Amino acid sequence: MSADPRPKGRFPAALKPTPARTTTVKGPPEPLRPQRLLAEAARDARRLTPASGLGLDTPAMQRRMVERLRQDGVHCEPVLQAMLAVPRHHFVDSALAAQAYEDTSLPIGLGQTISKPSVVARMMEWLFLGPNARRHGHLGKVLEIGTGCGYQAALLAQVARQVTSIERLQPLHDLARRQLARQSPSAPHIQLLYGDGMLGHPPRAPYDSIVSAAGGDDVPAAWLAQLAVGGRLVAPARSPDGRAQVLVVIDRTEQGFHRTVGEMVQFVPLKSGVC
Ligand code: SAH
Repeated sequence: MSADPRPKGRFPAALKPTPARTTTVKGPPEPLRPQRLLAEAARDARRLTPASGLGLDTPAMQRRMVERLRQDGVHCEPVLQAMLAVPRHHFVDSALAAQAYEDTSLPIGLGQTISKPSVVARMMEWLFLGPNARRHGHLGKVLEIGTGCGYQAALLAQVARQVTSIERLQPLHDLARRQLARQSPSAPHIQLLYGDGMLGHPPRAPYDSIVSAAGGDDVPAAWLAQLAVGGRLVAPARSPDGRAQVLVVIDRTEQGFHRTVGEMVQFVPLKSGVC
């Protein structure tokens, strides 16, 4: 038997390598909700006092957020370091800065939200357990579907060789472009595209890691076709019984695709076409 190549003690027990068959990993009873109902997000936004003049100690708030993620079972050090490096409050409206380091999604306009930090961390941890990522110690070439405000793209850029992120809503694509230009002016390895992410982006394929922040009935065939051998895809999709949305983890091997069904989630819908 070959040795387990994973660094010892770095990953939680729940994130074992994907077995070569379909398995169901028991999740929490309630769905994780990276994108909250807009009504709730709007209600929270109304409760907030604008951040200006409050003198928020955002670096301390950010460190506390990462500590909480660690206590809650996120053990993948590169993911935690990325979350320490990228200030989440820069990606939300300044009126929401006081909430930026809570484990909650927040509105970013056009009915969309910035995903909840714990869910972003969890998805990136899954990616880190893909065969190519384990071999190289980084996520390699990444395709993200659903740029939104660009927060996860900025995190991915910390732990990947190249990031391609697609958004179907032009104003959000423009917003992410501005945010990332401000955040990472010298990050030529991030490419933001305006388009229908259901088609993936063949010119840069194959990808070592594919992650979607929006969920459809199933994973589009184009994403599977663009996944590298040894690559891993993490996306929300309808559960096998059709009743809930779950995280689906798909590995590509020389022999084909191996699918694992993870915890219940609630992401915004994956829609075709652009607006
Ligand atoms: N990655 C973001 C989450 C954004 S929410 C973060 O860091 O928080 C999910 C995004 O997916 C929305 O902006 C939505 O417009 C986008 N989306 C939905 N369907 C899409 C598609 N087919 N192609 C590209 N983006 C899509």
